[in-house]
Amino acid sequence: MLLSTMPLTLLARQSPLAPSSEQLRLLEATTSCPSFDKPMQQARLFPLRATGISVFQINVGKLCNQTCKHCHVDAGPERTESMSRDTAELCVQALAKTDIPTVDITGGAPELNPNFRWLVEQARGMGRHVMDRCNLSVLLLPSQSDLGEFLASHRVEIVASLPYYRASQTDAQRGDGVFEKSMQGLQLLNLLGYGMPDSGLVLNLVCNPVGAFLPPKQDAIETQFRRELRARHGIEFNHLYTITNMPISRFLEFLIESGNYDGYMERLANAFNPGAAAGVMCRYTISIGWDGTLYDCDFNQMLDLPLVHGVPSHIRDFDHMKLDHRHIVTRNHCYGCTAGSGSSCGGAVTS
Ligand code: SF4
Repeated sequence: MLLSTMPLTLLARQSPLAPSSEQLRLLEATTSCPSFDKPMQQARLFPLRATGISVFQINVGKLCNQTCKHCHVDAGPERTESMSRDTAELCVQALAKTDIPTVDITGGAPELNPNFRWLVEQARGMGRHVMDRCNLSVLLLPSQSDLGEFLASHRVEIVASLPYYRASQTDAQRGDGVFEKSMQGLQLLNLLGYGMPDSGLVLNLVCNPVGAFLPPKQDAIETQFRRELRARHGIEFNHLYTITNMPISRFLEFLIESGNYDGYMERLANAFNPGAAAGVMCRYTISIGWDGTLYDCDFNQMLDLPLVHGVPSHIRDFDHMKLDHRHIVTRNHCYGCTAGSGSSCGGAVTS
């Protein structure tokens, strides 16, 4: 059940922006903002260092049933990159040697990976908190008819993307009919107890601007979302996080094609906030790619920016001590994490 009017991925369209090297070249050639190193130096945060690892983020691949316009993964139905059982086992072995409290599983639509449920079971069996980055429409796929029950029975926190509480804005970004499916997915989760008082089943939403804007203040937009979703659709949730669209992948293409690229980079740079920079997620996260390569975050993963030399580069060599205080690789896309109050979605990103 794939959405009918989906734009194809950059890769399928053979876009010049499909290679991450071209995205990086454009980002580094930006003239509308200083190099990201400059404000980081002024904030005495350069080079940026990790402060430990409390989030073990596994990106299980790029397969997705949607093709959202802002997707930083360039995910879609035709993507074939997918974490194998061998690599999933390496992740579990590495996790078992640590006391990292949170496992954050993302994609693509992570639930479509055949090893997703096994990973959840293993991590929960070790007593770790597990988060699932869910696009909501995946819950309605015939192959996933028991997904909601599975997530609830393992007490997985759900972090669900919903750009807006109205259909037109959400469908403009995520594809025709996605809003309606998202409402059905949220109602299904509420019936299972997600987002309901005292159930302990956490349902958080993530919204990102529909266009070349910075996100609004989180508290105000959360109040609006709660009021509108409750009144129009009877939907409850726990918290709403706002994230800034990162100037990479399909959102970078949108910025360039709409003539907004330079203005957007300038806006992000003008909104640089040292407090947000000090708390960026890469400082407490390790990000694992579908093939087991280690990264500082999911954005660096999509730009093929691996960890700096001298620390383990693959999950098979995972060494908590060596990675705890590693140097973090930053480039101009990092302005997306440090603008305004920063991107705050519970320690990770959603696709
Ligand atoms: S893009 Fe990644 S490396 Fe850069 S600041 Fe954000 S989380 Fe850190």
